[in-house]
Amino acid sequence: MIPYEELSKEELLEIKSDLDAQFEAIKAKGLNLDMSRGKPSTEQLNLSMEMMDVLTSESDLVCEEGVDCRNYGVLDGIKEAKQLLADMMEVPKDNIVIFGNSSLNIMYDTIARSMTHGVMGSTPWCKLDKVKFLCPVPGYDRHFAITEYFGIEMINIPMTPTGPDMDLVEKYVNNDPAVKGIWCVPKYSNPQGITYSDVTVHRFAALKPAAEDFRIFWDNAYGIHHLYEDKQDYLIEILMECKKEGNPDMVYKFSSTSKISFPGSGIGAIAASDANLEDIRKQMRIQTIGHDKLNQLRHARYFKDIHGMVQHMKRHADILRPKFDMVLSSLDRELSGLGIGSWMAPRGGYFISFDSMEGCAKAIVAKAKEAGLVMTNAGATFPYGKDPKDSNIRIAPSYPTVEELKTACEIFTLSVKLVSIDKLLS
Ligand code: PLP
Repeated sequence: MIPYEELSKEELLEIKSDLDAQFEAIKAKGLNLDMSRGKPSTEQLNLSMEMMDVLTSESDLVCEEGVDCRNYGVLDGIKEAKQLLADMMEVPKDNIVIFGNSSLNIMYDTIARSMTHGVMGSTPWCKLDKVKFLCPVPGYDRHFAITEYFGIEMINIPMTPTGPDMDLVEKYVNNDPAVKGIWCVPKYSNPQGITYSDVTVHRFAALKPAAEDFRIFWDNAYGIHHLYEDKQDYLIEILMECKKEGNPDMVYKFSSTSKISFPGSGIGAIAASDANLEDIRKQMRIQTIGHDKLNQLRHARYFKDIHGMVQHMKRHADILRPKFDMVLSSLDRELSGLGIGSWMAPRGGYFISFDSMEGCAKAIVAKAKEAGLVMTNAGATFPYGKDPKDSNIRIAPSYPTVEELKTACEIFTLSVKLVSIDKLLS
């Protein structure tokens, strides 16, 4: 493959006319495809259907505490669900609080509480002139939406293959008391699929924040979401690492079973130090009498233990792997060596991140739409929806079928080529 940049104007025009014809042919099919949604397919949801039969009208619905799960009681999660989620999150059972159906909801509550009541006795953020958050980019749009909603200033921190640029993180966190937090997706990150290296995690744990109420928001949404049995990433457990470094209170860890059982009907949890959890429970006691214990019981009885969950994740991987392989092989075949885009092959998670030539992402997404393919909006992976280079595009292969992905990738790679040629000709 000769990089497009090395081709003459005439050569580019010749390629373009051929690609235009291919694009028009595929457009004429009137397709309706979607690679924007990071959600499990129906086939994946079907894997957990037996969970529906775990609790019946005949079941004993008393949990290990001896409480009837149909009634009020047990504020922060029944024992058996805590054990399951604690093992999943690699923390002691006593360092976990179970909430409702969504971890994003817990993150929102955590920021809201910090705004109105402060963190462990410190000044509520709403009373401060300025509150800032560090945002590794590209990242998860819903994280950025929460901090934007509360008027928190967001600072882009570039991602590297080993995690966020830690020189920058240290510079901001250790010197600026207005920096109160950082969003992290440390394993199989959304959207790049990057797992933070040991050095990165050590450097996080050893931060010396200028603000006493600085917290790392460690969203381990994809902790056990591997794609391969023989190639898996390993992430150092952050709570223990922070404790070792004398910073036991510096981190909140979040996770859920959304992409293990049912998104929107799973269980979400937070793990943190005793002191942080006490702070959280103070609010929780006012907020609720308790979350959905029947769902907690259903999950605990269905998976039995972490081994059951790990086996279950292998079945998810068997469905997801061919889809990721389809996208990656298309990108490789169609775009490798052309110098018009780059991407990484993740070992887990839900996304593939694509970087086009600068200034092309919006146009590529629009071009793909013309032929009936919906992609995540360009810019969505950056705070305020603004990608300074206009180059990042998130690809979500989980929901369409392998056949649909094949066509979707054809449209996508054609769009990348056509927009890149236009850029080079302009
Ligand atoms: N965190 C990350 C990084 C995600 O990608 C997602 C969903 O895509 C969520 C959280 C949502 O989690 P939940 O369903 O537990 O709210």
